[in-house]
Amino acid sequence: MKITVIPYGPLSSNMYLIRSDAGIFIIDPSVFPNKLKKYDIPSTIDGFLITHVHFDHIYAINDWLKIYPGTPVYAPAGEFEAFKDPELNASSFFIEECTYDIELTDVMSLNRPNLQVLKTPGHSKDGVSFLFEDNEQLILFSGDTLFAGSCGRTDLPGGNREALMSSLRLLGDLDPSTVVYPGHGPSTTIKDESRFNPFFNL
Ligand SMILES: [Zn+2]
Repeated sequence: MKITVIPYGPLSSNMYLIRSDAGIFIIDPSVFPNKLKKYDIPSTIDGFLITHVHFDHIYAINDWLKIYPGTPVYAPAGEFEAFKDPELNASSFFIEECTYDIELTDVMSLNRPNLQVLKTPGHSKDGVSFLFEDNEQLILFSGDTLFAGSCGRTDLPGGNREALMSSLRLLGDLDPSTVVYPGHGPSTTIKDESRFNPFFNL
């Protein structure tokens, strides 16, 4: 798998552009296309994957859809309304009121070999993580559920501490060699998090 990480945009969220056995995807389109080098932008992609509908993970979606018109935007169905609601997408708490009027596809309808959608609510109402298998390596995009050494906050609308703890337990059951790419900050592994993350295995 080839992974391009672009940390930028409001709250420095990580946008990932990945070329995998399951397809070419942009995960959490928070960064405007003009921040990428032209040669890093593929001519087509298979879809946008949204871990959860907070503004800092979808901020640049309209600009990306101008480059890839008609490309499916896979997001958790339980969070569709957050695209149109600045309180639910948390933009009104941080910057200005952001709304997005776009066509959406339920992320649970994604059905591709080498790609599993894991339900990991808690940081948000119906957040998900994406588990890829590429060349016998497991690679997890954990959104704001799991960070290196930490986990997502639960005080925004839709947040739920109990749900987050059970999502972290689910991720803790993944193979220790799984590489984790979070929604903010550096990458890590399940093995390192099991050893060093105070929120893991609670
Ligand atoms: Zn978030």
